[in-house]
Amino acid sequence: MLVKIWGVRGSVPTPITNKQFKDKVFRLIKNLPKNSLNDENLLKTHLNSLPVSEFGVIGGNTSCVEVSVGNQLFIFDMGTGIIKLGNHIVKNLQNKKGMEIHIFLSHTHWDHIMGLPYFKPLFFPKNTINFYSPHPNFEKRIRLQQDFRFFPVSLDKFSSKKRFITLKREAITEINDVKITNFPQNHPGGSFGYKIEHDNKKFIYCTDTEYQNLHTRQAQTNLIHMQNSDLMIFDAQYTFEEAIHKEDWGHSSALVGIDMAIEANIKKLLLFHHEPDRNDSEIVDIFQKAKNYLKMNFPDSKLEIGLATEELEITL
Ligand SMILES: [Zn+2]
Ligand SMILES: [Zn+2]
Repeated sequence: MLVKIWGVRGSVPTPITNKQFKDKVFRLIKNLPKNSLNDENLLKTHLNSLPVSEFGVIGGNTSCVEVSVGNQLFIFDMGTGIIKLGNHIVKNLQNKKGMEIHIFLSHTHWDHIMGLPYFKPLFFPKNTINFYSPHPNFEKRIRLQQDFRFFPVSLDKFSSKKRFITLKREAITEINDVKITNFPQNHPGGSFGYKIEHDNKKFIYCTDTEYQNLHTRQAQTNLIHMQNSDLMIFDAQYTFEEAIHKEDWGHSSALVGIDMAIEANIKKLLLFHHEPDRNDSEIVDIFQKAKNYLKMNFPDSKLEIGLATEELEITL
C-alpha cells in the first residue's frame, strides 16, 4: 500500500506569501556551508539534507490523500490537492481503456470538496469515478457545488461515469482485496474517519475531528478502529491551548494525537490539516513541541511522528 499526500492544509488553500518566500531564501543563504557556492555537489548535498520545511514548503493545498494498492486507486477527500493528483492521473496513470477511481469523503465542508470541479479525470468518458460517503445526501451537496451559479460546468456535463455510493455508518466496504471501514467522528455537521486495510497493513485517515481527551465515548469507540495501525494521518490543526479555547470547533491538537496513537499502539503518526494562519516555521515549532511531549511523557515509546507535507510518500 502506497500513501501519498497531495493536500495538507486545513480550512482554506494557503499559498506561500512573498514575505515567507523571502524569509526562507534569506535563511538558506545565511546558513550555507563555507565554500558551497563554489562547489555544486557540496551545495546540493547540503540543501537536500535539509527538511522540506526549510528547502521546500509544507504545502498550501487543502486535504487530499491518495492510497494506491497495485493499480487500484483510492482518494480520501477532494480538497485542492486533488487537482494536481488529477493532472498526474491523466498524464501517467490512465490509458485509453479508462480507469476506475474510488473517492471517499470525510465530509463536505468546502476545504474537502473544492478541488473536484478541476479534477481532470472527470473529463474522460471511459473513466468511472465512484464517490463514497456515509452522509445520506452527499450527492446533492456535490451537485450543488457545480450549480451554474457557482461553476460553469454541471456534474452531468463531465463525461466520465459517476456513481454515488452512500455508506452505512461503520460499515466495511470491500473493493477487491482492500477493506475500508468508516467511523463517525466529532465535527460540526458530522465527519467520518476511515480505516484502510490490505495485506496485513492498516492505515487510518482521521481528519476534521475533535478529541479533547481519550475518555469520551467517541474517542473510545474510534480507538478500537485505530488499534495497531501502521500509519495514522491526524487532524492537528490547533495547539493544545487553542484546542481548549476552541472547544466544539471540531479540530484536535498534536498532543491528543500522540495520546491516541500511544493508546492504540500505532507505529507512525503524521500531523495533518495544518492551520492556514501559520507559516512553515510555526508549524515546525508545533511539531518540535509534539516531539518533546512524546519524549517526556512516553520515553520508551517507539511511536514515530512526522509532519504531513505535500508530495510525501509512505509505503506500508
Ligand atoms: Zn477541513
Ligand atoms: Zn470540516
